[in-house]
Amino acid sequence: MDPPRFVIGASEAASLAKEAGLSLTDLLPTLVAAAKALARTPISRYHVGAVGLGSSGRIFFGVNLEFRGLPLHQSVHAEQFLATNLALHREPRLLAFAVSSAPCGHCRQFLQEIRDASEIQVRIFPVDDPDQEPDPAFGPLSRLLPQWFGPSDLLEKEVPLLLEPHHNGLTLLTRNPDHESSCNGFCDGPDADELAAAALEAANASHAPYSKSPSGVAIVDRDGKVYKGSYAESAAYNPSLGPVQTALVAYIAGGGGGYERIVAGVLVEKEGALVTQEHTARLLMGQVSPKCEFRVVHCSSG
Ligand SMILES: [Zn+2]
Repeated sequence: MDPPRFVIGASEAASLAKEAGLSLTDLLPTLVAAAKALARTPISRYHVGAVGLGSSGRIFFGVNLEFRGLPLHQSVHAEQFLATNLALHREPRLLAFAVSSAPCGHCRQFLQEIRDASEIQVRIFPVDDPDQEPDPAFGPLSRLLPQWFGPSDLLEKEVPLLLEPHHNGLTLLTRNPDHESSCNGFCDGPDADELAAAALEAANASHAPYSKSPSGVAIVDRDGKVYKGSYAESAAYNPSLGPVQTALVAYIAGGGGGYERIVAGVLVEKEGALVTQEHTARLLMGQVSPKCEFRVVHCSSG
């Protein structure tokens, strides 16, 4: 069976819309049920699906993720998954999204990290829930969050936001001396240095303008496939998304299966950073994939 898909290419999206006699934007609600089915919610069993249209014409899925045995605030919401999925695929703008439940306050805030967030078109489109009325049409995010606090309150205008290219100028401080396998003997994947290089790439793409503590995680599965996640901060701090979570989004969006298939991971962050991910990342990876070999490699900013 093919793994579930989290991105629909522009030409396929255009043909789907044509077949259905809909605009690309109006196609989004028709895909919400398919997205919702992909959520991983061992605690609440409450699935949320979000389907977004990027400026390239591609369509992206987002789902909520909960982690058994971990505090609830480590969960990933569908809209956060969606925004991360766009960032992973270097999609510069989110034009519109449809979502199966009303976005929570936390997500309305997180989305402010996208340039011109107030103009993103949103439609709440519940499926299989007779108690909830769908929105009759798309409307701007500013309708859901009319008075927002966001990046413009804390940053200069030219600072790149979440979906814009980031080049944090980080380099690794230490290299692994023995080049051992990073897969704990499970796979013929990249060696430890390659995995650290992938995590460094993720750290260089990290959106951390508030703490200036960028970080990235690279994980590898039993087949040797590498997935990268970049730490993404929110101006309101609490909705920030850690690098393990974004790496898990990359894993799921990239067709990864059960978390036990993740065999190794590397976190790259600055030594002595104001905000450090190390302890949380170890806790998360230890719980999500207990046999995963997880390392921390430090970097400096030039
Ligand atoms: Zn939310």
